[in-house]
Amino acid sequence: MSELIFFRPFFKQVLWGGHKMRDFYGYDIPGDDTGEAWVISANPHGQSIVRGGTYDGKSLGELWEQHRELFGGMEGAEFPLLVKVLDANDHLSIQVHPDDDYAFLHEQGGRGKTECWYILDCDQDADIIIGHHAKNREELEQLTAEGRWDDLLRKLPIHKGDFFYIPSGTVHAIRRGTLLLEIQQNSDTTYRLYDYGRLQDGRPRQLHLRQSMDVITCPYIGQNTAGPVTARRGYEICTLVDGPYFTVTRWKIETEASLEQSYPFMLIDVLSGKGTLDNAAVKAGDHLLAPAGYGTIHAQGTLELIVTHL
Ligand code: ZN
Repeated sequence: MSELIFFRPFFKQVLWGGHKMRDFYGYDIPGDDTGEAWVISANPHGQSIVRGGTYDGKSLGELWEQHRELFGGMEGAEFPLLVKVLDANDHLSIQVHPDDDYAFLHEQGGRGKTECWYILDCDQDADIIIGHHAKNREELEQLTAEGRWDDLLRKLPIHKGDFFYIPSGTVHAIRRGTLLLEIQQNSDTTYRLYDYGRLQDGRPRQLHLRQSMDVITCPYIGQNTAGPVTARRGYEICTLVDGPYFTVTRWKIETEASLEQSYPFMLIDVLSGKGTLDNAAVKAGDHLLAPAGYGTIHAQGTLELIVTHL
C-alpha cells in the first residue's frame, strides 16, 4: 500500500523576506528575513526533504532518481514542478520568463517557466503586477527605454484567495505585503526588466532588457482561467487553471471529500484548517505528494487544499 509523502521545506533568507511563515504556519524559519520556502522542490538549488514514513530524510530529487515508480515511471531528467511559499516584505523586481523554446535556444538547453500564484494573505492595500499596457512592441520598447514604468506596468489590487495564471512571456512582480503560494515549472530562468532603481551592495542588480523585450507577450492578453465553483455534499471545488504544464484545483472541505489520485503524481498544499487525509493528520502549512497508483484519498475535517497534477 503506498503512502502520502510529506516534505520539510528548504528556506531562503532574502533582503525582502519576513516572518509570516512562522506566524501563519509555525515553520521553524532561519530568520526574520525568510522570503521563500521551497515546499515541494527537487531543484538542485534547494531540495525539500521527506518528513516521516518509508522515505524519511531523502530529498525529492533522490526519490525522483531512485524511485521513479512513485511517479508512474515518468520520463524526464528533472522533476517537472516546483512549489514555493513566498513572503514579500518589500517589492520584488519586475520579471518575465521565457518559454521552453527560447530557453532551450538561449539558455543552454534550459527550460522555460509558466507559473501561477494563489494569494494566501496580504495587506489591505496590497497590489501586484501582472502584464502591461503597451499596445504593440514599439510602444513596449519606447516605454521601457523612457523608464515610464507607471504607464507600462499593469498593477492590480489583490485580496486573499485571488489566483493569477502567469504563462511564460507575462511581465509579473510580487509587491510588499503579500504572502502567496507559487506553483511553477521547475526552472530558474528569469529575466529582470526593472528593479525600481535599487542598489544591492552599492550596485544595481543586473537587468536583462534585451531578453525581456524578446520574450514579453505583446500586447498582453489577460486570462481568467478559473472555472465555476462546484458545491458537493461536504465540500466545494474550483479548477483554477487547466494548462499545458499543470492543472490546479482548490478544494474547500467542510466535512469530508474523496480525491482521486490517478495521475503520475499529485501535489497537495494544505492552506488552512486541519483534519486527516486517510490516516495522516494534516494542518495548514503541510505540503505533500500522493504517488502514482495511490487511488482514492479520503479527506476529513475543515480543510482548504490546493491540488496540482500534470
Ligand atoms: Zn516568476
